[in-house]
Amino acid sequence: MDHGINPDKLREECGVLGIYTKNREDTAKLLYYGLYALQHRGQESAGIAVNDGLRSNYHKGIGLVPDVFNEKNLGDLIGEIGIGHVRYSSEGRGHLENAQPLVARYRRGSLSLAHNGSLINADIIRERLEDDGVIFQTSIDSEVIVNLIARYSNDGIIPAIERTMDLIKGAYALVIMTEDKLIGIRDPLGLRPLCLGKRGEDYILSSESCALDVMGATLIRDLEPGEIICITKDGISSTYYERPKRRASCIFEYVYFARPDSVIDTVSIYEARKNSGKILYEEHPVDGDMVIAVPDSSIPSAIGYSEASGIPYGEGLIKNRYIGRTFIQASQSMRELAVRLKLNPLGINIKGKRIVLIDDSIVRGTTIRKLVHRLKNDGAKEVHVRISSPPVILSCYFGINTPDRSQLIGAVKTTEEIREMIGADSLGYISEQGLIKATGLPKEHFCTACFSGDYPIDVGEKLNRKMKKYFKD
Ligand code: SF4
Repeated sequence: MDHGINPDKLREECGVLGIYTKNREDTAKLLYYGLYALQHRGQESAGIAVNDGLRSNYHKGIGLVPDVFNEKNLGDLIGEIGIGHVRYSSEGRGHLENAQPLVARYRRGSLSLAHNGSLINADIIRERLEDDGVIFQTSIDSEVIVNLIARYSNDGIIPAIERTMDLIKGAYALVIMTEDKLIGIRDPLGLRPLCLGKRGEDYILSSESCALDVMGATLIRDLEPGEIICITKDGISSTYYERPKRRASCIFEYVYFARPDSVIDTVSIYEARKNSGKILYEEHPVDGDMVIAVPDSSIPSAIGYSEASGIPYGEGLIKNRYIGRTFIQASQSMRELAVRLKLNPLGINIKGKRIVLIDDSIVRGTTIRKLVHRLKNDGAKEVHVRISSPPVILSCYFGINTPDRSQLIGAVKTTEEIREMIGADSLGYISEQGLIKATGLPKEHFCTACFSGDYPIDVGEKLNRKMKKYFKD
C-alpha cells in the first residue's frame, strides 16, 4: 500500500489499538509491534498511553512508529492497560497537540482515548461546550468525545459513553482506557472496523486483525455496530448502545485501506480483492499479453484478473519501498518526481506487449496518467487500464480524506474522457454490484456513498456548515 506517499489516493485516517494484559512490562512493546502493523492507516503521528493503575503515562510524536518510539520511552510505559494510535490528519491539523491517544484527567480519574473516524456534528457540539466554558486543547473532534464522556460520568463510564453516543453522529471506532477498564466501541453503523483478539489471558482491540497476528494473538471476532465491549480484570462484557437497523461498513476498506492479510467482518481482504479482479475481467474483458498491478494494493486484483482471463500475471512496475513521507509535502513538480521515484516500469517485461494494468482506484487521475505514459514510453504496445473500484464521484464525511468534488475526475468526466486523458487504449471500472459481490456480503452491509451518493447518515448538517464557511470567506 502506498497510503503515505500518493496524493492521488483516498486516505485512511487512523488506526487504533488497545490491550489488557497481565504482563505489565510488555504492554507498551506489544502495542509498538501492533501499531507497526497498523502503520498503513496513518503515518503522520503515533502515540501510546499506558495506565499503571493510578495514572496514565504516555508518549506520542510526529512521524512513523519507529521514529516516535525507542527502548527508553517504551520502557517508561508500564501498566496492565494500554492504548495506541497512528494518525493521518483530516480533522484538525497535523500538529503534535492533535496526536493521539488523548489523555485527560477528570473527576473520576484518568481517561484516555484513541479514535478512528470522523464526527459530522463535532463542530456544533464543540461550540455548545465552549459556550459552557469548556476549553479545548486540540482542534480534533475526538476531544469532543472525551469531554462529553467526562461530563456525563456521574453514573459510571458505560452510561456516560451511551449518553455521548446519543449526541455524536458519524464514524467512530474508539478504544478508551481508564484505571481499570479497556473499552472498545464501534459506531452504530459500523463505518470503521474494530476487532477483538486474545493472546493467552490478554485481550486486544484493534482496527485490523493484521495487528493481532503480529502481536501473537488470535482474532475472536469483529465488534458489532453499536457494540460497547468492556474488559476488566474480571473478564469481558458486551453491551449494545443500539442494535443496528442497517450497517454501513466502509467498502473502501476492502478496496484499498486495509492490509490484504486482515480479515474484516469475517471477510478476507485478500480474497475480496482477488474476487474483484475476476469480476473485473467478467465485466471488462480484453485481449492482452500480460496483466500487471500498480503495487502493492492492486496485486491481488491483478492476480484475480489473470486467473479469470488466462493472461499471465507479471511484474511491470517496480516499487521503491524506501520512500518516506517527504514527498507528501512536495510541490506539484516534486510530486511528479515522486511518482517516478516510487514506481519504475520494468522495461524488459513490458516491451512490445499488450499490457492490462490493474489499479484499485482513480481519484484525481494524475498518477495513472503518468504510469500509462511511462509504460508506453518504455515500449508497451497497448495499455488497457482496469480499476477494481467504481468511479469516486463524491466526498467522504466519515474520516476518509477525499479531495474536493471538482478534483474527483470521476465526478467531472465520463469514462471515455478519462480514458482519453490518461492515454489508455481502453478503460474499465468494476461496477458497484460487482465490487459488493466480490466481498460475498450483502449490499446492506456497506457504505458505498462516495460511488453511489447513498450516504448512510444525513450529511446535510456538515454540508450546511461548509457552505456557511464558504460564504463567510
Ligand atoms: Fe468509505 Fe466512501 Fe463511505 Fe467514506 S463515503 S465511508 S470512503 S465508502
